[in-house]
Amino acid sequence: MRQVQIEGQAERAGEHPSAMESLVRPEVAGLPAYDPGADPDEVSRSYGPTRIIKLSNNESPYGVSAGVVEAVRRRLAAGVARYPDPMGKRLAEAIGDKLAVSTEHVILGNGSENILELLSPALLGAGDIVTIQAPCFSLHEIFPRMMGARVDKVPFTADFGFDTAGWLRALAADPKIVFIASPSNPTGVILDREQLDTILDATPETALVVLDDAYHEYAMSNPSYPDGLEVLRGLSRPWIVLRTFSKAYGLAGLRVGYGIASDARLVDALNRVRTPYNVNQVAQDAAVAALDDQAHLAETVRRTGLERTRITKALRAAGFRVAPSASNFLFIDTEQSAVVVAEQLLRSGIIVKPWREPGYEGFIRASLSLPEENDVFVRRLLEICALGRSNGDRPSTYP
Ligand SMILES: *Cc1c(COP(=O)(O)O)cnc(C)c1O
Repeated sequence: MRQVQIEGQAERAGEHPSAMESLVRPEVAGLPAYDPGADPDEVSRSYGPTRIIKLSNNESPYGVSAGVVEAVRRRLAAGVARYPDPMGKRLAEAIGDKLAVSTEHVILGNGSENILELLSPALLGAGDIVTIQAPCFSLHEIFPRMMGARVDKVPFTADFGFDTAGWLRALAADPKIVFIASPSNPTGVILDREQLDTILDATPETALVVLDDAYHEYAMSNPSYPDGLEVLRGLSRPWIVLRTFSKAYGLAGLRVGYGIASDARLVDALNRVRTPYNVNQVAQDAAVAALDDQAHLAETVRRTGLERTRITKALRAAGFRVAPSASNFLFIDTEQSAVVVAEQLLRSGIIVKPWREPGYEGFIRASLSLPEENDVFVRRLLEICALGRSNGDRPSTYP
């Protein structure tokens, strides 16, 4: 009796679909899959271009500092036969020193995604309510749903603004966790101090506020951007701020992120549900070295900021609606099927993320890369979108 036949998957000898159907928890079977974007090798194979411009994962085109390369070399030379430090003491101390917190308030993760993941089994059960932004980083939704939690979404306003009434309504439902990303992914938009305070004031004191600060470093110089960690540490309520070495620090491939929590007991709970050696030793060493080179970070942020201004301006001049980003990516309304536009970009070897959420099916998210790569992207996007529009009211040349 076959009941489950996952689309496109032919059944092989020894497989037992009906057994799998009863083995896999219904919460898991119904989860949306995480979309990592197109694979560069696959794009080369399928479409031909050997030069791939990857603008799909908000990575840094400026890479890591020389100190990080040296730290990685040193660790490899010393050998990797031993398990890593399960508590990541040196890195936790370096983070603690930089942010003036004690190490009992620091949790390390295999990427900050890992900490997003740990929060769910540590805090959530079936029927708990979680409040998130929409559109948002998909893992804010996926991990809580895994536990059977209900996820309530608060959309941005039509012009990427803050919907005060929407937030107040959602927070009145008594959530257990509230996820906020500022800058948000995929919009790049930040919350100003007043908006952040609106959320914090309306969040039940029993709820955990999770501030996903993955793009913190890019937004720091924006005068409207409040440092969430500074705001939260003045409050007596549960909170955790998540940051990462994957974005501005350029360490995405090594997987290391961290959380600063209001309460050592929260860190203790997260430590209990994590796998003991979640952050490898090369990543720990690299992250310590990355923290040590703030000049490299500042240069990455400075160059990214120049490109953000330049490319936003160019796209808007060509008639595109672009969300006001404070980050290292742009959320762009193509006014046509984003999936189709993204597919055409793939043919030129350019990888972006088409959005699929209802209401945003015309949007692509494109990371800011090196100036020359950004130029290739904009030029190609203009060509594609001019072709896709019958009224032809957009210039098809750039600059
Ligand atoms: C990229 C990203 C992360 C985490 O990345 P890690 O590589 O796991 O540290 C977390 N939140 C948001 C919103 C992101 O965009």
